[in-house]
Amino acid sequence: MRNEVIDRVGRLYERLAAESGDAQGRGGECNACGKCCDFESFDHRLYVTRPELMYLSSKLGGERVKPMTGGMCPYNVAGKCTVYDYRFAGCRIFCCNGDAEFQSDLSERALEELKSICTELDIPYRYMDLATALNAFSANQ
Ligand code: SF4
Ligand code: SF4
Repeated sequence: MRNEVIDRVGRLYERLAAESGDAQGRGGECNACGKCCDFESFDHRLYVTRPELMYLSSKLGGERVKPMTGGMCPYNVAGKCTVYDYRFAGCRIFCCNGDAEFQSDLSERALEELKSICTELDIPYRYMDLATALNAFSANQ
């Protein structure tokens, strides 16, 4: 079951990359400055689901998922995402200079797929802010 979750989340991430690539600039131009990973100072929120955490955890080579103790994502180190290839759907969709409607549509469709993964593979569906999600997952891994 775990492998199927990982496969399906990986396919979802590939689709997000393809759809953003086909969007003729509507997705925005991110220069990976990392400022939006500091949620408090950027006034931004990121919500994630359990399948995304399972995917991240499976890619960490045995390392534990980190808790979040401040306003900054613990995977942002010196302004750079240290889990870029495994980052969450919201990190892939959000761009500070992108088209909000395009991002909202992409986000809705990504959430539908994440919900389906949960329903079909019997995983509790919860849409949690990043700190709550990381802290709960890291305490139970
Ligand atoms: S979305 Fe904007 S703030 Fe976030 S990393 Fe990209 S350029 Fe920086
Ligand atoms: S996973 Fe990476 S891109 Fe997403 S909030 Fe954390 S540091 Fe930023």
